[in-house]
Amino acid sequence: MSAAADLAPGGLELVRRFVNTVELPSGPDELDSLEGARAWCLSYGLAPAKDAAHLQLLRGFRETLRDLLFANNGEGDASDAWERLRPFLASTRLSLAVDPQRGLELSPEDKGPIASLLATVYESQLLGTWNRLRACRKSSCRFAYYDRTKNASRAWCSMATCGNQAKAQRRRERERQR
Ligand SMILES: [Zn+2]
Repeated sequence: MSAAADLAPGGLELVRRFVNTVELPSGPDELDSLEGARAWCLSYGLAPAKDAAHLQLLRGFRETLRDLLFANNGEGDASDAWERLRPFLASTRLSLAVDPQRGLELSPEDKGPIASLLATVYESQLLGTWNRLRACRKSSCRFAYYDRTKNASRAWCSMATCGNQAKAQRRRERERQR
């Protein structure tokens, strides 16, 4: 679906894929069942979703991450989205660990998906790559992509679809106002 150029660097790509496990507005959704969520987690070496409550938590976490990526694209309220991340952080455990090759790093206990993805978000903030992971500005799409443009100015997942649609809609709105 997405071009290779949209892939995020390193571990951040997993965050992008997690947010894109559902195609908005109406699916398909890889996390629509416990079996689906387990298969997704296992395919990326993460501890599988435990039960229905954990699945609900994962789905909520996905949409909160999407809100953060939408905010990275200049839409919505970033501080509100960070605030809503608190319960997900509280649901899991992260600690500092020594990696002899890399030094100190944030270690997700039990390899749970939420802890692992949060550790990656933290690391990408340090690396300066976080702000380039974005959700498409078209609100019915909000597909996650990595912005590799020189001046970090890309607003849509695809100019051919969402970008042109958004421009055409703005044109229609302007014409209506005349
Ligand atoms: Zn889009």
